[in-house]
Amino acid sequence: MSTSPQRSAVPPAAYPDAKGRFGTFGGRYVPETLVAALDRLQQGVERHLHSADFQAEFRQELATWVGRPTALTRAGTLSRRWGAEVWLKREDLAHTGAHKINNAIGQTLLAKRLGAKRIIAETGAGQHGVASAAAAARLGMPCVVYMGAIDVERQAPNVGRMKLMGATVVPVTSGDQTLRAAIDEALRDWVSDPNGTYYSLGSAVGPHPYPYLVRELQSVIGQEARAQMLERAGGLPDVAVACVGGGSNAIGLFHPFLADDGVRLLGIEAGGRGPGLGDNAASLTFGTPGVLQGSYTLILQDAFGQVRETHSVSAGLDYSGVGPEHAYLHTSGRVTYESATDEEALDALTECAECEGILPAIETAHAFAGARRFARAHPGARILIGCSGRGDKDMPILQRTVLAERS
Ligand SMILES: *Cc1c(COP(=O)(O)O)cnc(C)c1O
Repeated sequence: MSTSPQRSAVPPAAYPDAKGRFGTFGGRYVPETLVAALDRLQQGVERHLHSADFQAEFRQELATWVGRPTALTRAGTLSRRWGAEVWLKREDLAHTGAHKINNAIGQTLLAKRLGAKRIIAETGAGQHGVASAAAAARLGMPCVVYMGAIDVERQAPNVGRMKLMGATVVPVTSGDQTLRAAIDEALRDWVSDPNGTYYSLGSAVGPHPYPYLVRELQSVIGQEARAQMLERAGGLPDVAVACVGGGSNAIGLFHPFLADDGVRLLGIEAGGRGPGLGDNAASLTFGTPGVLQGSYTLILQDAFGQVRETHSVSAGLDYSGVGPEHAYLHTSGRVTYESATDEEALDALTECAECEGILPAIETAHAFAGARRFARAHPGARILIGCSGRGDKDMPILQRTVLAERS
């Protein structure tokens, strides 16, 4: 039987406040032209997101199309090797191969209710683009995906998947020609038709209400995992671990555990090649406060406040900012953030594949690397790992790295 765990009195649902603030972080730093669109979105979120009607439709799509609840898997071999009790929350089993679909279908359902006629989205590695294309096709809406020209080259299979599902992929040749430029371009599109167009943002970043909206939609991960742990493991985990790019899978896993005082929360960022500016994408570990894409958060910037390019072997973590709620949870101390290097992540990826027959995404592998480190320091710990996605999309890079070294 499950024990009744100690819950903290502070309701984490109190955040963000009415201005979209998580402590001092978050808010809405946007040009005048976007204010009306964001106001309208916020009203839509307040009206629909927690209505019985919307929730019933969302839960129905999650159950019958996304394939939820996703499994909770006991990782027996990793448990023995690490001297711990390891459990995996299997978002890699969700439709289109990652957690991104939870958010994409939720926002597309919301778009319909708000009367939008078309969906636009940005994508980096292509995962949110694929999820958005799938959700739009499912609900019969046209979809345009902005993608940095460099990413279009790097992520050809995902570009093909989007096109097959009827989306238009627009290569962005401005700015850094990667995710940051793609978000800027999507925002520009949205401004030109804020009523007919819905901008489906792919992570818990950007101006209010996006970080809140995405968290609420992704919290299904942690809600399921918490119930599954109580039922299957007989109690809550000692720690829940997730990788952090923009932070959507991590906040989705963490949020339902925030009030569980006995559950430590550990976010793992992309440590890349090392701690130097430009060598990683670890904004919580190495960043400083500033404004990026509509939000006051921790960002990787130089002494002049210039946002710097980042490096990570995983395209999905390769972003110079992070969701404002993570910046808040970092400064409040409730969540601990560490980083794992490219090398540590690839090593953890092969260990998971060989031991459990699960090929995680390279993003996800960062969480495994962090979990293994935690296990070494806390023998016997019960560890829940957010397995955010599967690694099939990463085969080209795994061919060039892990497999090339073997031959
Ligand atoms: C996109 C992606 C991430 C990073 O995004 P978050 O918003 O930080 O979750 C992590 N894992 C996978 C598999 C992804 O596709």
